[in-house]
Amino acid sequence: MTDAILAPDLVIMFRAISARMTEDRDYLSELDGQIGDADHGTSMAQGFAAVVRALHDADLADVPLSDVFSIAARSFLNAVGGASGPLYASALMSAAAFAGDARSLAPTQTLQLIEAMSAGIAKRGKAALGDKTMMDAWSPAAHAIRTGLESDLAPEAVLARAAAAARSGAEATRAMIASRGRAARLGERSLGHLDPGATSAATIIEVIAAALCATGKMGQGPGSS
Ligand code: ADP
Ligand code: MG
Repeated sequence: MTDAILAPDLVIMFRAISARMTEDRDYLSELDGQIGDADHGTSMAQGFAAVVRALHDADLADVPLSDVFSIAARSFLNAVGGASGPLYASALMSAAAFAGDARSLAPTQTLQLIEAMSAGIAKRGKAALGDKTMMDAWSPAAHAIRTGLESDLAPEAVLARAAAAARSGAEATRAMIASRGRAARLGERSLGHLDPGATSAATIIEVIAAALCATGKMGQGPGSS
């Protein structure tokens, strides 16, 4: 059965992201320690913990989904000092703009939220594919969603492709020289290291995919309705 994604589904999704960022905190900070300032795990864990707290405290009964994302954006930005603060705030504001007044989203629209998040980060950070940033995970995921939707793939299959594309994009940052953000100061010395922001982005996209599929609302395949 295919159903609509509602505010409580989004809250569950943010909780899942927060739990995973807390689990991965030390690993992500270690990655950042190799080419940055070793705070990426702390930033992501604190940022999403703040999102979960703010959503818990908010009255989400019958609010437009844009409110859920705006609350998330504001709380993430307030909690995070580093580059990922404004970048994820932009992703979430872009999701808010996409969701607009809707109280629910159809599965295909939910996929487009991921595209909107990617576009928000791109607009704010101006990083291109290959710059060794979180865009190296977000952009392939967005591309997989666009092509999956164009080919009329089932939403679950599109999510699986997006998550896989994000992870291979993140892995590919090992072979890249950073040209944006703090790691760009290292030049060639950034080679051989995973980009922490791309790594956390791939994990976030995997968790979003898993959380959306776990709602049972994304449809099993062509013919499901
Ligand atoms: P900071 O570098 O300020 O300590 P974080 O450690 O939280 O910030 O995040 C670092 C990550 O931010 C990098 O690994 C990279 O993926 C991402 N990043 C940095 N600059 C940009 C940018 N202009 N566009 C997209 N992502 C960026
Ligand atoms: Mg850092």
